[in-house]
Amino acid sequence: MAPIVSNSFYFGKKVCVLGLGRSGMAAARLLMKCGAVVTVYDSSNSPHLLERAETLRREGIHVMIGPDAEKDSACYELAIISPGIEEESALVLNIKAKGIPLIGELELAYTLCSCPIVAITGSNGKTTTTELTTLILESAGLNVSSCGNIGTPMSELLLKGDVWDALVVETSSFQLETIRTFRPKVAVWLNLSPNHLDRYPSLKEYRDAKLRIFENQHHDDVAVLPHGQEFSSVKASRISFSTKESSADLTLRGTEILYKGIMILDLKETNMKGAHNAANVMAAFAGAMGITPTIPTLTGVLRNYKTPAHRCELIAEHRGVRWINDSKATNLDAMEQAIRSVQGPLILIAGGKDKGFGFAPIAPLVQERVTFAILIGEIRDRISEEWASVPSATVDSMEEAVLLASRIADPDSGSSVLLSPGTSSFDMFRDYIERGEAFRALVNRLSSTPELSEY
Ligand code: ADP
Repeated sequence: MAPIVSNSFYFGKKVCVLGLGRSGMAAARLLMKCGAVVTVYDSSNSPHLLERAETLRREGIHVMIGPDAEKDSACYELAIISPGIEEESALVLNIKAKGIPLIGELELAYTLCSCPIVAITGSNGKTTTTELTTLILESAGLNVSSCGNIGTPMSELLLKGDVWDALVVETSSFQLETIRTFRPKVAVWLNLSPNHLDRYPSLKEYRDAKLRIFENQHHDDVAVLPHGQEFSSVKASRISFSTKESSADLTLRGTEILYKGIMILDLKETNMKGAHNAANVMAAFAGAMGITPTIPTLTGVLRNYKTPAHRCELIAEHRGVRWINDSKATNLDAMEQAIRSVQGPLILIAGGKDKGFGFAPIAPLVQERVTFAILIGEIRDRISEEWASVPSATVDSMEEAVLLASRIADPDSGSSVLLSPGTSSFDMFRDYIERGEAFRALVNRLSSTPELSEY
């Protein structure tokens, strides 16, 4: 597949990049490599950004940061926006007022990409499915790499100049908002649940942004879709998956995953737990099939696969109690999947930032499955009210939560302690990683200092 534009398309063009984050830096460098005349803008002028600005200036890229960036009167043929920047920000409004065409970093990278793309979106499971798809394609002998929301911006990967058979791109709704011609050979839609409602007026706008993943696909492309849901705008040929319905192309029978009735993997032979991971494997398998029909036996490929850290990650078994870190669960759907994937008595640590949604929808499941809930963060009192029928306690820190859990958990009854907060971490931690690592460190301390558990 040839690049959408030749590398010379950007040669000599005056282009600005909005945002001096990782993807903004990569976009600026990629454009520079193509011979564009590049300026980067960022509203912040923190010491960290000053350092980045200096680095880019040394490479010949013009950089303007701080309040002046929002008022600059220069004109450009094209502007590239980073996914973290809101379209209503002063920086973007200044560019829009000048009528400069605006595209996202993903779109820029796509126009310079010469290999087929598997793009993966959904409210939950994107990173896991991106990893799984990459692994399956690699095992089929293809030279593939993953990029996008998973960590490495696509522009940064393209800068390396390697030649790939395919790229697996984790795409967020924010990135899809600013595409124009982005056409993945395979587009995977995992699921949709209320998320980012601080950015979108309603679930409809959030869904519409995500649906753009299918917008430029043709009939000979592939769309991987949950069975039985309405996707009227999809033109590509469809592969469906379902953990409940047996009429989908990919289905679940007990722990076995079937493709058109033939068993392709028994999840018992892997480390993966829960229906949500079955769905991720199905979507990854279908995503890989859209690139190559020759997929090796999945058991060999996935036997040792571990879901990424902070996603239903078993971190310790201490005095017969399993400690599971699901700090990445920042919405109720992810929390629900985590609760459903645990067998036996369950102590749940939940709560964090008040993102404006309540925890009442999940109360019946929590009442059915959770023995005791330990509630943390700024939303703890609200959850406590909404889960009035569930035995619970509110605490002030992760340390208190872990110590209380260790006191309550019955050592010989197959109990689990699950950190699955159901919301983001910013009230107490820098991000979900810091929250998960704090939990891990406390659990490890517990394992090495038995007397602490008597606290
Ligand atoms: P994303 O990249 O979309 O945030 P991750 O793979 O990082 O997805 O997982 C985020 C959270 O969602 C974790 O708590 C994980 O256990 C949960 N999760 C993973 N796959 C699914 C799924 N298919 N449906 C619902 N929750 C999921």
